[in-house]
Amino acid sequence: MGRVDGKVVVISGGARGMGAADAAALVAEGASVVIGDILDDEGRAIAADLGDAATYVHLDVTSPTDWAVAVETAVGTYGSLTGLVNNAGIANGSTLQGFRLDKWQQIVDVNLTGTFLGMQAAADALIASQNGSIVNISSIEGMRGTPWAHGYVATKWAVRGLTKSVAAELAPHVRVNSIHPGLIRTPMTEGIPDDMLTIPLGRPARPEEIASFVLFLISDESSYATGSEFVVDGGVIN
Ligand code: NAD
Repeated sequence: MGRVDGKVVVISGGARGMGAADAAALVAEGASVVIGDILDDEGRAIAADLGDAATYVHLDVTSPTDWAVAVETAVGTYGSLTGLVNNAGIANGSTLQGFRLDKWQQIVDVNLTGTFLGMQAAADALIASQNGSIVNISSIEGMRGTPWAHGYVATKWAVRGLTKSVAAELAPHVRVNSIHPGLIRTPMTEGIPDDMLTIPLGRPARPEEIASFVLFLISDESSYATGSEFVVDGGVIN
């Protein structure tokens, strides 16, 4: 018996990196997943590897229409929707004075508005399930300040706050929590040196080490956790 048997979960940004690891972990424990991304070839390949329990849809998280299709696909293909992982995200950086408005708007659109739109689109179906779980992927940058990362930091703080307000509104039918990873080895962090952060555990995480928290929060093992933030950073000191 799997830890998430019968769960049906939409995962944004699931074509690679952490989202792909989330999909594999959930399917391995009995869930069905709808993987949404803008990287269609990669996303289709990931879903094909996972078999009938995974379906790929094109999902630009800034599009309400794409979100509606992702939710309809989950309900139409697997019969219900019980989970949402708002994982899609981008990073960019600049000095404060050099931060271009279009770059600022882009990161707000994807990291923050995308998370909001996902929760809005999934809410009715998750409430109908009476046992829904939303996992929003923030960052340790949603808990501190970092120079040159203003858009990333601001959106990840906002995701943390949005998580708590939606958790209060959708309880008791839907639980909503945020995960705050430290440095994870994915395509997003290519080129970032291992020692950029002081990590007591001595290394960046593998995506699977965050996916195990996603699995826990989607499962009924976390039935009393909502509005909570889960820091998974190897003990980062600075
Ligand atoms: P990644 O770049 O490897 O994967 C991100 C995925 O999101 C990609 O598949 C990309 O195509 C997708 N994506 C980007 N824009 C999108 C859009 N508009 N619509 C749909 N999908 C879109 O990055 P990752 O490291 O796997 O990051 C996953 C999440 O984890 C992000 O929210 C990121 O901010 C967060 N995070 C990452 C780290 C890290 O160290 N890698 C640390 C903390 C938090």
